[in-house]
Amino acid sequence: VCPTAALTEVNHTRKVWKALHDPDKYVVVQTAPAIRVALGELFGMEAGSLVTGKLAASLRRLGFDQVYDTDFGADVTIMEEAKELIDRLENGGRLPMLTSCCPAWVSFIEHQFPDMVDIPSSCKSPHIMFGTIAKTYLAEKMGIDPKKMVVVSIMPCVAKKAEAARTELSIDDHDNVDIVITTRELGDMLKEAGIDFDKLADEDYDHPLGESTGASVIFGTTGGVIEAAMRTAYEWITGEELEQVEFHQLRGMDGLREATVDLKGREIKIGIAHGLGNARQLLEDIRNGKSEYHAIEIMACPGGCIGGGGQPYHYGNDEVVKARQRSLYKEDQGKKIRKSHENPEVIKMYEEYLGEPFYGELAHKLLHTKYTPKERI
Ligand code: SF4
Repeated sequence: VCPTAALTEVNHTRKVWKALHDPDKYVVVQTAPAIRVALGELFGMEAGSLVTGKLAASLRRLGFDQVYDTDFGADVTIMEEAKELIDRLENGGRLPMLTSCCPAWVSFIEHQFPDMVDIPSSCKSPHIMFGTIAKTYLAEKMGIDPKKMVVVSIMPCVAKKAEAARTELSIDDHDNVDIVITTRELGDMLKEAGIDFDKLADEDYDHPLGESTGASVIFGTTGGVIEAAMRTAYEWITGEELEQVEFHQLRGMDGLREATVDLKGREIKIGIAHGLGNARQLLEDIRNGKSEYHAIEIMACPGGCIGGGGQPYHYGNDEVVKARQRSLYKEDQGKKIRKSHENPEVIKMYEEYLGEPFYGELAHKLLHTKYTPKERI
């Protein structure tokens, strides 16, 4: 704990209660992939218990008007990010492309590697994309004034609080995500409300925007974002169906990994790092010309978001993080649809509203951003 308290975790649960009790507000909540494999631990369940259905049910008991899954936003992220990767590969863009879901790492690059600020994908992160879609497409579809809509993100991550406040991610001068709380803060709210979480019957997310694929679920673990991107890039580049969707060469818990994915004769070299020291080494190797990749995934937390700073404490016990990882892969295996570009609600939204992924004017305006070099700290 920081001795000056400068790094004390800020608790935003009061803000959420206030919004829920305000009759003029329409409160929409979204849950990140990593929450469903960790929240149960706060209620005495085994490490890695998969509680997706109980999570949706518990949020309705708290009084949220609509309960959604950030996984939908993750599928949209893959639509945009896979297209962006293909664009960079085919049109001489800057390589490698870095996945941009982790705000801690994006901020680290801005301050520590300002000369490499053009390598992150321009895609906003999944929960910011979801908030943007909620306040535009969803608000329009449901006839709700976006100014009355409050979007709450339940995240495994303290850095997502700062990310939601970044002005370059807002649209038309308003935030897309209004409040971010962590898994632990959600646990506090459920306990405060006297909800017997472990006894709840499973419920589904709301629709539209509640459908998601196995590809989006694995965003919560190291290697998952790039695997999800490869599932889509493979089919878009080769024009053929990907039958074996699991890229085992991208999985594992080693802090620094590399793999080559063969897209029918076209080799994509991938680097993966999690944990800050490993990530710094990966970027320094790229800067010094020691490693040449087409795409890299970096997550600041060990294990990725399953080991995030807002998750139930695991006190350095790696077995807890591994149990959470196994559960995410299990949920992926159990999904009927496992590739983001096959999500029917995502496809419908592009047809009805966004236009073409990455190149469409509205898709680009709403879902992409720019990063700027910042002073070294
Ligand atoms: Fe947040 Fe950690 Fe996930 Fe990065 S890896 S998004 S810092 S929880």
